[in-house]
Amino acid sequence: MEIVKTIISSEKLAERVDELAALISRDYAGRTVTLVCVLKGGVIFMVDLARKLKLDVELDFLEISSYRDATESGIIKFTKDLSNPITGKHALLIEDIVDSGKTLNYLSGHLQAQKPASFKVCALLNKPDRRTVNGYEPDYIGFDIPDEFVVGYGLDYAQKYRNLSYIATLG
Ligand code: 5GP
Ligand code: MG
Repeated sequence: MEIVKTIISSEKLAERVDELAALISRDYAGRTVTLVCVLKGGVIFMVDLARKLKLDVELDFLEISSYRDATESGIIKFTKDLSNPITGKHALLIEDIVDSGKTLNYLSGHLQAQKPASFKVCALLNKPDRRTVNGYEPDYIGFDIPDEFVVGYGLDYAQKYRNLSYIATLG
């Protein structure tokens, strides 16, 4: 698969990251926020966002893999859990993209069970037309996008393209 077209330029990404950082800095003013990055896709978004926050920030990471059968009923497994539980912390989950909503629904349940002081979700990309799970919805969204497979700025196809500075479609 080859890159077909840029749908979000690096300038647009930077602009939106600034806007999200301003919103989050306002909402969490005076608090320390723990950014929980979902590896690997969320990592580029997380480090850009973190550097724009006017807050005290802690970073933690988790990694999951999902195995899907033909009916897309996925089993989600942790390949890396948090270094420290988020109990009592203001946790903000950083996701690359919300598609069916299964991953986010699972992760929000898992993390809220640790009894954080607060829990919210920031997703760079959202595909509202693809939702099959009526569950947790992101509190902050970078961009709503149509139902197309995208890569770049953390998102991969077979581990490739994560380092692109823009979001593009493949074909
Ligand atoms: P969900 O559980 O919401 O269906 O899936 C979320 C995960 O699927 C994302 O974290 C991401 O890993 C993957 N995903 C969904 N849509 C895309 C896409 O357009 N491009 C890439 N690279 N990954 C996607
Ligand atoms: Mg992901």
